Amino acid sequence: MPHYRYLIIGGGMTADAVVNGIHEEDPRGSIGVISAEVDPPYDRPPLTKGLWKDKTVDQIMRKATPTEATLHLGVTATAIDPATKTVIAGDDRSFTYDRLLLATGGTPRRLDVHDDGVLYYRTLADYRRLRDAAEAGRHFVVIGGGFIGAEIAASLAMNGKRVTMVFPEPAINATRFPERLASFLNDYYRERGVEVWPHTGVTGVQRHDNVFEVRCSDGRIIDCDGVIGGLGIEPNTALASEAGLAVENGIVVDEHLRTSVPDIYAAGDVAAFTNEALGGRRRVEHEDNANTMGRIAGRNMTGAALPYDHIPYFYSDLFDLGYEAVGALNARLKMEEDWKTLGREGVVYYLDGDHLRGVLLWNVWVQVEAARALLRERRTWRGDELQGRLPAWNRA
Ligand SMILES: Cc1cc2nc3c(=O)[nH]c(=O)nc-3n(C[C@H](O)[C@H](O)[C@H](O)COP(=O)(O)OP(=O)(O)OC[C@H]3O[C@@H](n4cnc5c(N)ncnc54)[C@H](O)[C@@H]3O)c2cc1C
Repeated sequence: MPHYRYLIIGGGMTADAVVNGIHEEDPRGSIGVISAEVDPPYDRPPLTKGLWKDKTVDQIMRKATPTEATLHLGVTATAIDPATKTVIAGDDRSFTYDRLLLATGGTPRRLDVHDDGVLYYRTLADYRRLRDAAEAGRHFVVIGGGFIGAEIAASLAMNGKRVTMVFPEPAINATRFPERLASFLNDYYRERGVEVWPHTGVTGVQRHDNVFEVRCSDGRIIDCDGVIGGLGIEPNTALASEAGLAVENGIVVDEHLRTSVPDIYAAGDVAAFTNEALGGRRRVEHEDNANTMGRIAGRNMTGAALPYDHIPYFYSDLFDLGYEAVGALNARLKMEEDWKTLGREGVVYYLDGDHLRGVLLWNVWVQVEAARALLRERRTWRGDELQGRLPAWNRA
């Protein structure tokens, strides 16, 4: 039974950052990583972006874990016994630890109808499957108009594929962006050849060899060569709750990223942490959070007591548009829009009552720190006071 001073469940970007953090403070402590994936840790964001442009798979592989830790790939942890500090894995293996960290991320949500052959896109293995399908196939249906759907639709279209996007909302990213921006995106995608079908649900997907039939709520049927699902994720919390850890839309952690059970930590997409500037307890499903939280958690596992008070940012690319954002982007919040040109350059401020909770920097760059500083002020705002607030934004 292998014993590690530090054991990590999960083999994503968070796990790799944890390994980095541990190694910084305790280069001699043994580290084990158990990952259900067959690939060692890699950067996930390029799966929908860089790998469809100029990046290679080699370039996205992470460096820390393979050199500083012992990797157990293709191994799924099935139970934790905090009393004996033991982790049980599916193939009857077990591991013991001094300190454990859960970086189990999330599992893609599935359609609740027959979904034969839908590729719920999240891993490098999924990328390889889609690449293979795209070698031969011409027409792909993307179900979902959120982050993943919008990015993979743009990447496939830029690679010469016919793409149909199907989603129930009125517009691309309508749950996060102001109505005008989301409907700008529908037009922008259509101008680039993507067929955009908003207000449309999927009632079933049938596969006949390599041909897929997507049935839509309005009765239309689309025949295509592949179907990609981008419906968001559910945090992988079952292991934690079965072991008695506090779980509430994610594994609850304190400011030092400790769970409710001694010597067990959590970080990344699965961790629910408290940040007052962001309005209380939340989970964040983004790269900067995975990297920064993971590294701090790793250092804390060795005995440091660093608080996690970082305000994470995230980014996305859609054809030749790009954005960065901090905090919460949620179209249910009040949105104060400050456009130089709608859809081309501007800032959107998200307010919960009169508290600023998020800032979207649309084709506006080098403003992340300034946006973070605004959130940290934690003062109250009238919407119009935010117009032009970011100092270096060129309004000429
Ligand atoms: C296609 C795609 C594009 C993205 N693009 C962006 C972007 O542009 N910008 C941005 O900021 N963020 C982006 N993200 C989000 C970002 O990638 C995630 O926030 C980040 O990957 C979270 O890392 P994680 O390690 O916490 O979780 P995950 O990446 O989900 O990793 C969890 C790992 O745990 C493993 N695991 C789970 N349960 C078990 C178990 N019981 N036993 C063993 N192993 C287990 C999983 O197999 C997986 O390896 C993107 C995500 C995807 C999927």
